[in-house]
Amino acid sequence: MLILVNISHSSQFKVKIHDKAFDLPSKFNDLSEKLDTNKDGTLQNSELKAHVLGDKISLDSFEGQDRIQEYKCKLTGAPNPNAKDYHSFEQMEKVLDQAVLDHPDIAKKVSLGKSAEGRDIWALKVTGDVHTDTSHKSGIVVTGCHHAREWMTVEAPLQLIHDITDNPDSPENQRRLAESELWIVPVANPDGYEFSRNENSWWRKNRRPLGVDQSGEKTSAIGVDLNRNYWDGKDEHLFVYRPAGDTPGNTRDDFSATSDNPRRDTYRGPFGGSEPEVKALLDFELSHSNIKGVLDYHSYGDVILYPYGHTRKESPNTELYREIGTKMQEATSGFRLEQSVGLYPASGTSDDTHDLNGILNFTIEMGRSFQPNPKTIPVTSGRVSKASQAFIDEIIARDDAGELPKHSAEVA
Ligand SMILES: [Zn+2]
Repeated sequence: MLILVNISHSSQFKVKIHDKAFDLPSKFNDLSEKLDTNKDGTLQNSELKAHVLGDKISLDSFEGQDRIQEYKCKLTGAPNPNAKDYHSFEQMEKVLDQAVLDHPDIAKKVSLGKSAEGRDIWALKVTGDVHTDTSHKSGIVVTGCHHAREWMTVEAPLQLIHDITDNPDSPENQRRLAESELWIVPVANPDGYEFSRNENSWWRKNRRPLGVDQSGEKTSAIGVDLNRNYWDGKDEHLFVYRPAGDTPGNTRDDFSATSDNPRRDTYRGPFGGSEPEVKALLDFELSHSNIKGVLDYHSYGDVILYPYGHTRKESPNTELYREIGTKMQEATSGFRLEQSVGLYPASGTSDDTHDLNGILNFTIEMGRSFQPNPKTIPVTSGRVSKASQAFIDEIIARDDAGELPKHSAEVA
């Protein structure tokens, strides 16, 4: 009689990340069974290729390697070893401190508020005569890392800081320092960023323990998607946070890419502006009527996005967005330019909230993966810095010419 012994994988499948083996949780057994074509129990890059990259991206490219590594970290919850070559939150603080030491007349470190775990939301104010009231100049805010896992978006603001403060005497920078007031915020979500560096590289939200969900039930879920939590507190703008027909606590009517389920990556939070990180940024931006422009850094896709994102309708500022965006695009040699909704529709985003308050803004989706090979940092952050400098120049010129919309605090 033939006895079939089940030697198949009650044992665990593995992946290797930088030669270290990590177990895959058993919920991925079926998937692994399919992908492990040589039946050795370890998913090789070549076995993951078709599943993760499709047939357009080569396994030999940075993009291919990086996306496969990210995927393995996502499945196993292992930290991404690339972390060591990206600035930690503390190292970022030191870069800001050093910029202030090196350039005390044009750089000042300011805390805009605290995160849920008590870290500072640091801004580096960069402008000529930085210690005086410079609110007559065109204010521009640049934010990185709303989303914890988007590590390149911390490097790009630091590059922008270097490009301006280390060369203050170039004619371009002289004008920027004289006529604009820059607020560069490398890490909008410090708790999430550190968690994604040290614990779970796929983490996207902030780290606030929610306590209760929208129905008032107890939940152990943690974190809100900060770029789904934007609302300026004005009833007439509530549709940007929650579209008509989408009811609180109900996950069945969730607008695409924005959820009422606290366990989802795109959880919008218990109410608009509920998160301390969003509140700190928005309070600052809406109370300073000289703030005319915002750049929000995200990854990935090599694309420059302009509002709206919640609807296919065009913003009244679309012509300005196309003109300014084209200049930014030229500076990056290769980023696409499109309306945000083209990527996917989402509500509660910073873009639409800023636009409705008369602040011109773009989202820059940089790079080809979330945590790319550190060798790509100089090229990607350099391109984004160039696009950002083009944006700053355009805002200065158009503010001078009176072509920009009125900030909501100015109208009131
Ligand atoms: Zn993002």
